[in-house]
Amino acid sequence: MNIDSFKKHIEASKAGFEALKKVIEFSCSGCGLCVSLCPAEALEMQKNVPTLVGECNHCGFCYQGCPRSFFPLDKVKERFFGKEQAEIEQRVGRCADRFTARSLNDEIFDRGANGGTTTALLHYLLEKKIVDAVLHLGKIHEDCFICHHAKTIVSTTPEETLRGSKSKNQITPVLHDLKKMAGYERFAVVGLSCHVQALRKLQVIKDDPELKELFKGLSKVAEKLLKNLKFVIGVNCFANTRYGAIDKIYEKFGIKEEDVIKYAEDTKKSLYQFLNEGKNFFWYVQDNLMTRDGKFFPFKYTDFLDETIFMGCMVCPSFIVCKEADVSIGITASEIKVNEFGYNSVFVRNPELSGIFSSMAAEGKLLKRPMWDNRGTYLRKFVERVLPGKDLMNIRGYVESGKWNPHQDLFKSAGSAHSARIMGLQRLFLAQTVKRKMMFGPAVAALKACGKLYTENL
Ligand SMILES: Cc1cc2nc3c(=O)[nH]c(=O)nc-3n(C[C@H](O)[C@H](O)[C@H](O)COP(=O)(O)OP(=O)(O)OC[C@H]3O[C@@H](n4cnc5c(N)ncnc54)[C@H](O)[C@@H]3O)c2cc1C
Ligand code: SF4
Ligand code: SF4
Repeated sequence: MNIDSFKKHIEASKAGFEALKKVIEFSCSGCGLCVSLCPAEALEMQKNVPTLVGECNHCGFCYQGCPRSFFPLDKVKERFFGKEQAEIEQRVGRCADRFTARSLNDEIFDRGANGGTTTALLHYLLEKKIVDAVLHLGKIHEDCFICHHAKTIVSTTPEETLRGSKSKNQITPVLHDLKKMAGYERFAVVGLSCHVQALRKLQVIKDDPELKELFKGLSKVAEKLLKNLKFVIGVNCFANTRYGAIDKIYEKFGIKEEDVIKYAEDTKKSLYQFLNEGKNFFWYVQDNLMTRDGKFFPFKYTDFLDETIFMGCMVCPSFIVCKEADVSIGITASEIKVNEFGYNSVFVRNPELSGIFSSMAAEGKLLKRPMWDNRGTYLRKFVERVLPGKDLMNIRGYVESGKWNPHQDLFKSAGSAHSARIMGLQRLFLAQTVKRKMMFGPAVAALKACGKLYTENL
């Protein structure tokens, strides 16, 4: 362990919130953890940005705990997913089990983002009293069929977990409410990779003898917050949308959220169920909106770049699969036929959860199927090789000017990554490479070149 590097960060943290501000500018994921770590209760998420609203006492806990200041990667790997060897392990982490699945409960399935596997799991954990509470995301406008305005919720009964169904395409600081969980005996947290990485860093600081000694004050706070954390459930993620983008898009089209029945691709399953018109699968995955009166509003994210792109997602070191979670659940890699949807891809790392999923299947609560591993392996490798590693999004331009102005051929290149002949795990691998080559690599290079890179893996 490089103690000097950790000490360097402890020294930097003495500037208190001023130290964190540098990280916030281009690298914050909006996870919300810093709010829960501040003993002076001086931080608040405003428009999903950590903001100083009280007096900073310069304890440095916000900076020390933030996963985007430094990340103890070796320690996290050692504890949570061991040495990776084969390509599959490097890409999705070491798994005790991996499969595709959907809930067999009609209501959970109908409401779910994809197969409803996440909600089915939460429902089961509470029903069997394996945990007594879950911290996750619900929606602010509960009457809307689709609502991307999320709020954190605590579910303590199986029925309550359905309030969390569906994806919310807006950065949301799940962990700003972590303090609410301290009173429960065994709780679970559901979050995207950024939330999961924040929790894992804090767990390592709480438990690792060397880090505990170095970060004495923070490890005590971590002990209080995390001692009863039983499961960390990850929702896979490519990138999320900046605060307020959804409203700008609705505003431009003059539509109200309560009228929307389809938003971009995430409701293709519901739309299929509603309309069942036998339309081409690719129609559903286009970025578009539909309102309940049948009006259809195609839109391009390129028209809303300034509003939608979130720099914290560009520098996110997680490539879709949330490798550090006890289980991570997504959609990519879930299909086994071209025109299929309504399933999840599930990557289980905690053996206890493996057993729980088997029980769910045996009790008729979950449909489990194998994952398609090899469809399009050679084509995937070829496309990966020819994908340009250039800064087509012009992230450097954004870091310098604060405006998004991508190169014209960006979307041509991204589109070439979609092929029906690459499916299952191979499609996931390709999407990971797109993220690495077109977002993460150029973003880190741009920050480095502009002297703005404050995240360090140790
Ligand atoms: C912004 C975003 C991008 C995604 N990109 C990908 C991708 O590229 N590839 C892929 O395989 N999967 C991706 N997913 C995951 C996928 O969309 C589904 O959320 C996942 O498959 C779970 O489906 P489900 O049917 O089990 O969910 P449900 O049973 O409907 O449960 C959803 C759960 O997810 C949680 N949740 C929803 N939105 C958020 C959010 N914004 N932040 C934190 N927690 C949230 C809720 O707490 C809820 O409990 C993404 C999700 C989001 C939110
Ligand atoms: S990444 Fe999380 S902990 Fe770090 S500044 Fe942003 S919200 Fe706070
Ligand atoms: S891309 Fe990373 S930082 Fe952005 S929302 Fe997804 S997991 Fe969080």
